[in-house]
Amino acid sequence: MYQSLHLETLLAKAGCEPDLATGALVSPPYLSTTFERAPDGSYPRGYLYSRHANPTRHQLETLLAHLEGGQACAVFASGMAAATALLQALEVKSHVLIPKNVYYGVRNLLEKIFVKQVLSYTTADFSDLECVRAAVRPNTRLIWAETPSNPLLQITDLSALAQLAREVGARLVVDSTWAPPPIQRPLELGADLVLHSLTKYLSGHSDVMGGALIAQEADAFFERIRTIQQTAGAVLDPFSAWLTLRGLRTLAVRLRQQCANARVIATFLAQHPGVIRVHYPGLPDHPGHEVARRQMRDFGAMISFEVAGDATRALKVAARTRVFMRATSLGGTESLIEHRASIEPPDTSTPPNLLRLSIGLEHIDDLLADLSQALED
Ligand SMILES: *Cc1c(COP(=O)(O)O)cnc(C)c1O
Repeated sequence: MYQSLHLETLLAKAGCEPDLATGALVSPPYLSTTFERAPDGSYPRGYLYSRHANPTRHQLETLLAHLEGGQACAVFASGMAAATALLQALEVKSHVLIPKNVYYGVRNLLEKIFVKQVLSYTTADFSDLECVRAAVRPNTRLIWAETPSNPLLQITDLSALAQLAREVGARLVVDSTWAPPPIQRPLELGADLVLHSLTKYLSGHSDVMGGALIAQEADAFFERIRTIQQTAGAVLDPFSAWLTLRGLRTLAVRLRQQCANARVIATFLAQHPGVIRVHYPGLPDHPGHEVARRQMRDFGAMISFEVAGDATRALKVAARTRVFMRATSLGGTESLIEHRASIEPPDTSTPPNLLRLSIGLEHIDDLLADLSQALED
């Protein structure tokens, strides 16, 4: 059934599997940690203990696998827990290739934890695939892409990168947190795995933390990820899984409106004399615009821009907003503004005059008026 339906239809019915016992249309969250054995000691419904598997978590994993067009999904307590499980599934002494412009938590995870133990990593400019090819090593087992990237919204050509990964015998994972389905579906473009922070658009209301890995194939590598999930235990709790299913019901319409708002705001900022640069792949002069048009259905709802001036000026602009709230994170219904360099480590390459916007569902005129007054001299 899943295969023949549009993503919008799957999303609208997220979490609706009439409960066998009561007929309740929306399945309840199964908070129970443990499940009854039959008199013969078996587990007739397949559930044993919630770290191992849980019906609500299973419902979410099944839906996410279909949304991305993959065969399997494992959900975790956060996006970083999902990233950790993926890196733990690699063989010892593997090399991981990550973009120069990557969510700083991922680089932090490799630097602070994995290089001390079992893995090595280097960075490359992922907007230029020749740079990526040149950075591949004989033991490169994982190529980690993030597109659009945080916070510069660089675009990576996923079909071409998938081809390259196949040639060099590495797996390709795409952190697609900034462009969830139906906007972008990396597995269709040849990626082996997709990573999501459920904390962002998929749950969509800034009140859940979670992460997901979706695999093109339910192969032996995915089984290792599953074993790590069940054994190491950084699982998504059932209530967060239930809230995520609830959030997913409106994902398609939320994204449609958020992307529409973002297009207007990006155009406004690009014409504003107080702004020297706008990073948004929907603008025709963005270096990744053509690739983004090919591989994305819309350009997402994240925008970064550089104000004319220094960090102090950027902080002042952020200090003045009244509709945009000053906070990190993204993907909720509320618009956020963030001075990114001050949350990243001191060696960050993020421009000091850069502000990052997560565009929400407010009326476009209120968002424009707020930015307009914040950018006044
Ligand atoms: C937020 C984020 C993560 C990390 O997810 P958490 O749920 O915060 O652990 C990873 N990648 C990207 C692109 C993100 O925005």
